[in-house]
Amino acid sequence: MQRLFKKILRRLLVPLMRGKRYVCPICEGSFRWFLPGGANKRPHAQCPSCGSLERHRAFWLFLRESPLKSKTLEVLHFAPESCFEPIFRSWKNWTYQTADLYDQPVDLILNLENIKLPDRCMDLVICHHVLPEIQNDQQALAEIFRILTPQGTLLMQNPYHPMQQKTLQAKEMLPEERQQKWGKYAGLYQHEYGADFRQVLENTGFITDILQPEDFCTKEDINRYRLGGTLFVCTKS
Ligand SMILES: [Zn+2]
Repeated sequence: MQRLFKKILRRLLVPLMRGKRYVCPICEGSFRWFLPGGANKRPHAQCPSCGSLERHRAFWLFLRESPLKSKTLEVLHFAPESCFEPIFRSWKNWTYQTADLYDQPVDLILNLENIKLPDRCMDLVICHHVLPEIQNDQQALAEIFRILTPQGTLLMQNPYHPMQQKTLQAKEMLPEERQQKWGKYAGLYQHEYGADFRQVLENTGFITDILQPEDFCTKEDINRYRLGGTLFVCTKS
């Protein structure tokens, strides 16, 4: 209900925010400013029309130029974002299903650590900002690997700290350390990925590219579209 209320409120603000400074490439709205967004209310983060954040818009620009967009694919989207779901459902070349363990409505109720789907049944899995909350994230990655077809792709966004060599594990931290690090999300986060996360993905069997918006967008686009986040492009070897 709170989510619906926020959505309605955002929509009411749209006419007041129209302008030319920022553009959302997902809904193609053009605005004087974006709304504050994210856990720490980053300025100019959220599109008032579709609700996208920096990472959503970066993902969209990547996907828009990717061959995956025009291929005929079986696609599974965990924890689907509302700014993407109607678009992906409208693509006739994708057989698109959504999944979640808790949030409804979705097409499939699935536990990432034990996915009740056959081997090699999906060509593409999309899973953004879910893995840090999964207790046994390596098991979840192994399960995604198992359900992907050969050469299948996992597209995933997670907070990533490459300057931090080792991934922080909640189970190895004191409650006060977790609170200091993650604030109101202290009870939710299980992992904060560091540079060693690439090795985890490769040990699972994925060929991995780790991309920032700078890797596929111009500086002008990053400013105009307000882009951010880290995208993991993982191919089943
Ligand atoms: Zn938008």
